[in-house]
Amino acid sequence: MSMTSSAIRSAFLDYFASKGHQIVPSASLIPGNDATLLFTNAGMVPFKDVFLGQDPRSYSRATSAQRCVRAGGKHNDLENVGYTARHHTFFEMLGNFSFGDYFKQEAIAYAWEFLTKELKLPAEKLLVTVYASDDEAFNIWTQQIGVPAEKVIRIGDNKGAPYASDNFWAMGDTGPCGPCTEVFYDHGEHIWGGPPGSPEEDGDRFIEIWNIVFMQFNRHADGRMEPLPKPSVDTGMGLERIAAILQGVHSNYEIDIFQALIKAAAEATGTQDLTNKSLRVIADHIRSCAFLMVDGVQPSNEGRGYVLRRIIRRAVRHGHQLGAEGAFFHQLVAALVAQMGEAYPELAAKQAVIEKLLKIEEEQFGKTLQRGLSMLQEALQQLEGKVLPGDLAFKLYDTYGFPVDLTNDVAREQGFSVDQAGFEAEMAQQRQRAQQASQFGVDYNAQLSSSQITDFTGYEQQHGNARVLEILRD
Ligand code: ATP
Ligand code: MG
Ligand code: MG
Ligand code: MG
Repeated sequence: MSMTSSAIRSAFLDYFASKGHQIVPSASLIPGNDATLLFTNAGMVPFKDVFLGQDPRSYSRATSAQRCVRAGGKHNDLENVGYTARHHTFFEMLGNFSFGDYFKQEAIAYAWEFLTKELKLPAEKLLVTVYASDDEAFNIWTQQIGVPAEKVIRIGDNKGAPYASDNFWAMGDTGPCGPCTEVFYDHGEHIWGGPPGSPEEDGDRFIEIWNIVFMQFNRHADGRMEPLPKPSVDTGMGLERIAAILQGVHSNYEIDIFQALIKAAAEATGTQDLTNKSLRVIADHIRSCAFLMVDGVQPSNEGRGYVLRRIIRRAVRHGHQLGAEGAFFHQLVAALVAQMGEAYPELAAKQAVIEKLLKIEEEQFGKTLQRGLSMLQEALQQLEGKVLPGDLAFKLYDTYGFPVDLTNDVAREQGFSVDQAGFEAEMAQQRQRAQQASQFGVDYNAQLSSSQITDFTGYEQQHGNARVLEILRD
């Protein structure tokens, strides 16, 4: 059964609404309740305090299609983009949640019914994992649902450390935690990869589609696991991954939304070959950049703003590689709005602002990109080993505005890596110099701008927040 991404999103929410779940709109990518978290990276994030019993709601069952970004912090898939069939920096997580209401039995039964009855996935293509000691979940899958025992894989703890498995979820060192069960889809023998737990697991033949967490214990600082009085359920299914299955394709990048974005990226960069990896990267990055901007993030030199800036610069570099002349990235916002503006009216509403901010940012980086790339290319050619020294990565950062992950992205394509520790050391030294300078009353910024190309560091001064605010107000 072929379904559009939009139809799958609606089918999921409708299904869980019919099972008594409150439909909750997607929250912002900027977590409102957790200053330690960079971005909303899972459907449960907006419900964290509800699970902890600190945010009472009028419902005990909820469902959502939550926008998520995994481009920094604990979950970071930035380096996977362009390399795997299943990872994005921005994606939508479909979830159903029980706050002390139903538990393992219903959670598993709902997931199975939705996949095999509503979406009509063939049961024989699915396999599941459970936490090694979770006999309860194992028995539900094998005895009640009827999945053959050889297709229910027990995943143990990594290197024997207790509760350290991928299949044991914890919010932190203490607090609510519990075992997981995951559903995988077999895309077929012709694709490299092995079932979960096998050495080839990280191939893309068996793709994880749905992760169901049973919040069952409260872990104390001394390691004691106390059963929660009202166990809860948190699930997450990647919309793009399930869309790939239903649209009969292997890679997320072949689904409807991505095909449209890739086509737009090809037009904007004048690329003929639609399978070019850089197109996938650009298509991925326009989504995270635009949605971060929708939620109020602006390119800057620190924190969330710097993550955004890094992603934009990576996209610009890939466009440059494809031969784009001039700013192209902002031109993709229209295609994104056409694909996702209906589900996210806030995206459509901010289209013009996002285009303007992106264009400024692209043009700015465009000024130093070519010179930086030439320097990097020359350095790589002269290199004796396979590791680019930290001071060179620092120079690219400091003089040409190359975030270190961008340098790494270029180096990796040619079989090199970057001395990350060396780069960090240079950064620490620069911070120290800046501190000392300010102690002696020297304007370090003035010093910097005379000793380096000002296009990069001058951006903040030229445009500053005032300029950005002005644009946002337009
Ligand atoms: P993987 O092992 O494939 O990296 P994960 O175990 O990190 O996935 P979870 O944290 O369990 O993923 O998130 C729940 C679901 O969200 C996954 O089963 C998957 O369908 C989807 N998902 C996770 N990360 C991404 C991503 N970077 N891009 C697209 N979908 C994702
Ligand atoms: Mg992951
Ligand atoms: Mg996983
Ligand atoms: Mg998982």
